[in-house]
Amino acid sequence: MSQDLPSHERWAILEWSTGRPREWFIARPESEWLSVAEAPLVTRLFAARTAGQPLAYLLGEREFYGRRFWVRPGVLIPRADTELLVDAALEVARNGLRILDLGCGSGCLGISLALELRARGRVCSLTMVDTSPVAVATSRNNARWLGVDAEVLLGDWWEAIATNGDSAQHPRFDLVVSNPPYVRPDDPHLQMGDLRFEPSQALVGHAPTADGLADYRRILKGVPAHLAPGGMLLLEHGHDQQSDVLALVRQAGLVDAQGLHDLSNRPRAVRAFAPPPGHYD
Ligand code: GLN
Repeated sequence: MSQDLPSHERWAILEWSTGRPREWFIARPESEWLSVAEAPLVTRLFAARTAGQPLAYLLGEREFYGRRFWVRPGVLIPRADTELLVDAALEVARNGLRILDLGCGSGCLGISLALELRARGRVCSLTMVDTSPVAVATSRNNARWLGVDAEVLLGDWWEAIATNGDSAQHPRFDLVVSNPPYVRPDDPHLQMGDLRFEPSQALVGHAPTADGLADYRRILKGVPAHLAPGGMLLLEHGHDQQSDVLALVRQAGLVDAQGLHDLSNRPRAVRAFAPPPGHYD
């Protein structure tokens, strides 16, 4: 049955479309697998996946940090790479963190953090921001489905965070996490695999520069006003962008900047801290 697909994808489609587990199928001959009512859906999903459509969009879900998140076209598909940011944030976990996920997409990063903190007996508040209405709605639904209280705001980076004009009154966060768009506009990967179907706004951003760093600059502009003294900023980046992102973070006045590596030892994230009050350049 659709031998063009890798077997884990075939099983995912079969299990998802019938609601039956793999063991059920394995125990019977293939001729008995699908009822007349089920066969058309499975056939259509196999064909759509064979034509390249992302499995996460076809099934409407993707696992991240051990939990199932709703996803749909218009929202970046959660990737295992981003789990590195959850691990890094948990290293400094404490009670009462005010967390902001900038460019939240499906909400997988912020929501996983809130749930992992809760599992460790810690309370936090979670704000998530995205410039895409579909992402905002998806994050809200994922937060509700996974039982997390979150404020999810529509807007462009910091513009979504209310200010009253008085810089001393800007909402402050203790932990700001972001997986921003960082793919260079000429990267050939954009024409391959799932990336062809994902929102370009989430991959390259809406006003990209050739170096893929435009959105880090935008994010870092707002950090002094919004990251509480001693607070932590965590940014995912492409595998060859670490030294550039470290330089930008230091230029923005953050201290103790450090590059982080994923499980295959590739440089994939940067962590830095807001200095004590009055110490910004
Ligand atoms: N890591 C993703 C990719 O290259 C890109 C995600 C992003 O730009 N934030 O497939």
